[in-house]
Amino acid sequence: KCHNELVKLKGNIRVFCRVRPLAKEDGDGPDSKNVVTFDPEDDALMNIWHKGKPIAFELDKVFPPQATQGDVFQEVQSLITSCIDGYNVCIFAYGQTGSGKTYTMEGIPQDPGINQRALRLLFSEVEEKVSDWEFTITVSMVEIYNETLRNLLGDNPNEKLDIKMCPDGSGQLYVPGLTEFKVESVDDINRVFELGHMNRATACTNLNDHSSRSHGLLIVTVSGINCTTGGRSTGKLNLVDLAGSERIAKSGAEGSRLREAQCINKSLAALADVIHALRSKHGHIPFRNSKLTYLLQDSLSGDSKTLMMVQVSPVDKNVSESVCSLKFAQRVR
Ligand code: ADP
Ligand code: MG
Repeated sequence: KCHNELVKLKGNIRVFCRVRPLAKEDGDGPDSKNVVTFDPEDDALMNIWHKGKPIAFELDKVFPPQATQGDVFQEVQSLITSCIDGYNVCIFAYGQTGSGKTYTMEGIPQDPGINQRALRLLFSEVEEKVSDWEFTITVSMVEIYNETLRNLLGDNPNEKLDIKMCPDGSGQLYVPGLTEFKVESVDDINRVFELGHMNRATACTNLNDHSSRSHGLLIVTVSGINCTTGGRSTGKLNLVDLAGSERIAKSGAEGSRLREAQCINKSLAALADVIHALRSKHGHIPFRNSKLTYLLQDSLSGDSKTLMMVQVSPVDKNVSESVCSLKFAQRVR
């Protein structure tokens, strides 16, 4: 109870940070040493050490490397189940390539991340709900690459999708032709994820490279109908594995790579602008500046709830990207 009150006071945008563990790939040179420290008294504080000095950051919560997928999920559960009550929710994983975005959202087969855990939880919650409500859960998967949307569960994953305004004057947005799968079991989820992955991979030669330059969205819709009154409710859960936040200068991009990088940076900047405007209650929210924010408009505005999970690498060679990511976190917080 107390916890809920606190969250309300803070508003509907929360920013967490997760620091991944050191990995073999980090190497063992002098620039591979750990530069992130935590405050044992306060799980909202962390320091990044740069040139012998600590830079302090405060977030809503910080997950150290030893935090498990279960620990992370425990903190986001109530946010996820609120879509059964009709809330729209967005969870974003932000950070440079290799910082653990996909690990947090998708996880690994033996230790799934938020996406899979969220669907399992939603199934069990709507099943257990002893009431006259009946719920349907559907999922869509979309990739946004160079400002174009791809329908990852469609028959033709290369077909491009548009975002349109509903003609009924409601101001609601929709995506004509977007495939929605009704899911009823864990097997269904696995099938859907497999199809989405396959389709994401077919259009590109290097999946890792490609996925670090595109946004991957899992969109879960929970629709309820009250069997007695006929009343309806709809909640949406958007689980977003964002493109890598690394800056272009460092990767030396040219030509089409540069265009890609600009699209990525532009849409991440547009996301920050939108969250910032929502937070500071500006009159105009610039949703239309990117496909990502335009698509998520309904799920970012009104009384919807947003969580930004900023992923950070623990090593010295990534220190400047880590600081940039945490500055982004502070900008949206
Ligand atoms: P990103 O999606 O941001 O590029 P990944 O999720 O692919 O990064 O993570 C990079 C590597 O680090 C992967 O091999 C992943 O399994 C591993 N990794 C990331 N976070 C963790 C974690 N919390 N615990 C264990 N391994 C992790
Ligand atoms: Mg990834």
